[in-house]
Amino acid sequence: MAINSEPDLETLLIHGDDVNNRVTDVAPPINIATTFRYDNEDLIPWNERGDLSFMETKPIYSRLAHPNSSRLETLFSKILDGNAVIYNSGVSAFFAAMTYFNPKRVFLGQNYHGCTAAVNILERNGTLKKHTHKEIEEFAQKGDIVHLESPVNPYGTSYDIEEFVKKAHSKGVLVMIDSTFAPPPLQYVWDFDVDIVMHSATKFFGGHSDLLSGVLVVKDENIAKDLREDRIYLGTNIANLESYLLLRSLRTFEMRILKQSTSATQIVKFLNDNRHKFNKVLKEIYHSSLQKEDFVKKQLKGGYTPVFSIVLHNKEQCKALPNLLKYFIHATSLGGVESLIEWRALTDPYIIQTLIRVSVGCENTQDLINDLDQALTVIQLKQL
Ligand SMILES: *Cc1c(COP(=O)(O)O)cnc(C)c1O
Repeated sequence: MAINSEPDLETLLIHGDDVNNRVTDVAPPINIATTFRYDNEDLIPWNERGDLSFMETKPIYSRLAHPNSSRLETLFSKILDGNAVIYNSGVSAFFAAMTYFNPKRVFLGQNYHGCTAAVNILERNGTLKKHTHKEIEEFAQKGDIVHLESPVNPYGTSYDIEEFVKKAHSKGVLVMIDSTFAPPPLQYVWDFDVDIVMHSATKFFGGHSDLLSGVLVVKDENIAKDLREDRIYLGTNIANLESYLLLRSLRTFEMRILKQSTSATQIVKFLNDNRHKFNKVLKEIYHSSLQKEDFVKKQLKGGYTPVFSIVLHNKEQCKALPNLLKYFIHATSLGGVESLIEWRALTDPYIIQTLIRVSVGCENTQDLINDLDQALTVIQLKQL
């Protein structure tokens, strides 16, 4: 590697926000202030400011920007290769994109149920119409948005991003991709010419099931500035404490997700290789590592998503399985260091009723395999 080459992801995660250092503390301080003293040597009226980026060095009020939200934007802009805007949740990020781009039609497929529900609100208010991905060809017009999630919640399987982008762009339609299930270094979505990128930072970036956040990334700096201005009045900036927690999490993000990805792929292989052994329990297994299409490897060049789903034979089995496991906590969400399992019907109104979603954490892979093995064996023998 050349001496002056751009730093890699691991280095950026630790040093990408060094430019935002305000004090000598090695760990950025937690700033709990909502309001900040004006600099009496530099009093410029709002109307005379060209844009709002001054708030990043001279914070005014924390709903606008605060030291650690600005730090996060510096860091995310580097690791996600664009202009990042930070929010207080993934759904806020999605809603902000809908508000700013204001499409007349949104085309949705399988995706996080909360994004569909946000579109339902806008449809109820008469501001847009919801369509399926299958209807792009027939109904899409310039200025509309195709929202695509890949790998997709809750299955962990992938769609051909390039194919969607081609179809959408031929109609002048923007493609927004939710890449929550496979952030870099697993997947680099800009490679496929998408227009807007979103992540729920609550998941892998946060990684410890203790904060909510979301991020939007765009290529155009002026759009990012407009999104930041909108955010002031949507009231959806990330909170002070959460921004500190997220910064701390990001330092170790790459090691966590690479381990989770490898582990999940091995667990899925174990389940798939042992289908016969669990034939009275396991009906289906869904994960990108089981997909055969060429685009899957091309998209997930850094590894498969740490989330997969299984479909069991009946609801009784779905109720029993989480309770038989030692290391998989029965809870919603994903991406944390602790492995989670969820009978998805408990929170997702749109999903098949016998689906179990698994998010693989950072525990030892063999311990997790042994745990699943014993629990599935109990159900297999009980013939629930
Ligand atoms: C969790 C999730 C969201 C929503 O994010 P929140 O931070 O919970 O608001 C959006 N998309 C995907 C794929 C998710 O998993």
